[in-house]
Amino acid sequence: MDENEIKELDEEVHEKKAEKNKIKRIEDLPGIGPTTAAKLKDGGYDTLESIATAMTGELSDIGGIGASTALKAINAAREALKMGYLPATEIYKKRLQIGKITTGSKELDALLGGGVETQGITETYGKFGSGKSQLAFQLCVNVQLPVEEGGLDGNALFVDTEGTFRPERIIQMAKAKGFEENEVLERIQIARAYNSDHQMLLIEKAEDMISEKNIKIVIVDSLTSAFRNDYAGRGTLAARQQKLNKHMHDLQKLADMHNIAIFVTNQVMDRPDILFGDPTAPIGGNVIAHQSTYRIYLRKSKGEKRIAKLVDSPSLPDGECIFKVTEEGIRD
Ligand code: ADP
Ligand code: MG
Repeated sequence: MDENEIKELDEEVHEKKAEKNKIKRIEDLPGIGPTTAAKLKDGGYDTLESIATAMTGELSDIGGIGASTALKAINAAREALKMGYLPATEIYKKRLQIGKITTGSKELDALLGGGVETQGITETYGKFGSGKSQLAFQLCVNVQLPVEEGGLDGNALFVDTEGTFRPERIIQMAKAKGFEENEVLERIQIARAYNSDHQMLLIEKAEDMISEKNIKIVIVDSLTSAFRNDYAGRGTLAARQQKLNKHMHDLQKLADMHNIAIFVTNQVMDRPDILFGDPTAPIGGNVIAHQSTYRIYLRKSKGEKRIAKLVDSPSLPDGECIFKVTEEGIRD
């Protein structure tokens, strides 16, 4: 290598370093102009961290850019943040902090690896009357139990988008657990969301409430119905998915930052294209599928019985169990 070549190489290294240091915002990433940046921000990718941890397909869909541009942006964000290997002990330390809330059914708890977890999003989907809201109500009560009894000694925040929250039902469940009724209701913060933007805003503004009120579980019942209403036409699907993606990101951020559980309910739609097997599918497509840590598919069986199926879990085997919705609440 002669002197000139060394000099050239030196300059190249310098340039690359300078380029890396210049990346502070998502607009600074290669291939991301102002229009794309605006689209990405709308879709929940508003920081370098969110880009660095994004999936290529999602980023290209939401930003309206090609897959290779998306990949370049992701890699540049990772380099800029000096993201690389982390000792597994760091991740393990954080995972040791995970708390679990009992559902009231030992079978269902076992299916979930011990209960509804903090640091993650648990989604239940199923038809009307399958027991999604009943489970949500039970978690509002159970989170208040001491840790030895399957709770987190904490409180609940409930975003009600369908107007189906029933304090009377909570009292019924609380009494069965030996709670004093008013005390239990005081420890549940309720917000009625009137449309999808309002729903998103309630979650964006939830931070202060979470620390002030010792919130350990945030419930959104239902996650998708307002989005379905607000983005009804065919041409609005991309916009809906962008918003839903941001909403899921916001929820996951809360789960991570405050070590709390997120529990969301989701509806199902009929899929006329499926001729064999179960023709129902959850709303929201990949955006929700990828970002839910646990998905439970609920079906009605005889009388009080319900069938719960764990779907596509990253760490637990797929499986099914039966539990009951009784007058006292969720039971085996
Ligand atoms: P969704 O999945 O639509 O949210 P829900 O969670 O509201 O459905 O479940 C409603 C069902 O829960 C009712 O059809 C009934 O079977 C059961 N349920 C609701 N309240 C009670 C109660 N007080 N006692 C026993 N079962 C109840
Ligand atoms: Mg419901």
